[in-house]
Amino acid sequence: MADASTTLAPTPRARVQEMKEYHPPLGSRAALRLDFNENTLECSPRVRETLAQISAGALTRYPEREPVEAIVAAHLGLHAEQVALTNGVDEAIHVLFETFLDADDEVLMPVPTYTMYEVYASATDARVVAVQAGDDLQFPFDRLMAAITSKTKVIAIANPNSPSGSVATREQLLLLATRAPQAVLLVDEAYFHFYGETLMDLVGTLPNLVVARTFSKAYGLAGLRLGLLAGPVELMRWVRRVLSPYSVNSLALACLPPALEDTAYLNWYVAEVLAARTEFEAALDAAGVRRWPSRTNFVLVEIGARHAEFVCLMRDAGVLVRDRSNDPGCDGRVRITIGTRAQMKQAVTALNNALAMLRAEGGKL
Ligand code: PMP
Repeated sequence: MADASTTLAPTPRARVQEMKEYHPPLGSRAALRLDFNENTLECSPRVRETLAQISAGALTRYPEREPVEAIVAAHLGLHAEQVALTNGVDEAIHVLFETFLDADDEVLMPVPTYTMYEVYASATDARVVAVQAGDDLQFPFDRLMAAITSKTKVIAIANPNSPSGSVATREQLLLLATRAPQAVLLVDEAYFHFYGETLMDLVGTLPNLVVARTFSKAYGLAGLRLGLLAGPVELMRWVRRVLSPYSVNSLALACLPPALEDTAYLNWYVAEVLAARTEFEAALDAAGVRRWPSRTNFVLVEIGARHAEFVCLMRDAGVLVRDRSNDPGCDGRVRITIGTRAQMKQAVTALNNALAMLRAEGGKL
């Protein structure tokens, strides 16, 4: 007789069964971390001091997000009801998709782009409409405009984009928002501080614009998991129905105000990275490595068929970089995060040695 426990097992939704597994290569990262576009150094010392002062008693209480949301909103020049803090931008994307995507809806995105858009979209019953960028990896604006249909309910744009480093202009984003009034236009400004341009000033003036920001990059708080969504009150009200009231923990909430206040630290880190990027790009050009223009804290480079060996050689030299070959249109391409100038000197030495080894072994890279 068949065992009921084997015939009657819980099964996930069909869409979940079809989902690809996503395992970011995070294991054993005791090296120079140029693989996840994080801050490569440390967070503000003021955040460190705040953490040290948190009492054991404070941890017994559920986190209260509203006062911190009000502080963040004021910092951005917005009303508190327009801003929701999230457990990283990843939760913001997840909750936004859960709020707005129904069966048969379409979520439109240029590719290659940030992996989690597709992951969370494929967990809904909506259809992913991916618009491939050309070899230059520039924002495929015309093709995105042409791909909008009455079923388009979310348009997800990372600006600047990862892994390409390319950007969409303000005009292009506004035209997308106007062409698809039935869709939420998510402008993910995770790398805003390295770029400097934003649509945050338009939040609340366009009925379908939602902007996301993270504290994982320039602020150096990836481990705390802090992000935010900013949009018109009418849309944010729906988002808040789906969002957990406790998903941003009390340590993260305590650290946010001092992180925002320490603009000197933020400005120093961003300036350091931009100076390091200029030097690193010059080193790539000197080494004859093709690179894509970057407005962010990373650069995508062309290594070619031996990309996997290159990544291993870099790791052997103590430098972690990220193979993006599995991203659509990125075969042979590797993404390298920009850290400080001193760190990038180490990266240049490792890169030149790795290229010399691959070239000495003959053949094309
Ligand atoms: N958006 C983009 C474009 C990213 O590259 C990343 C991180 N790699 C995220 C969002 C995730 O941010 P968070 O750490 O806040 O979840």
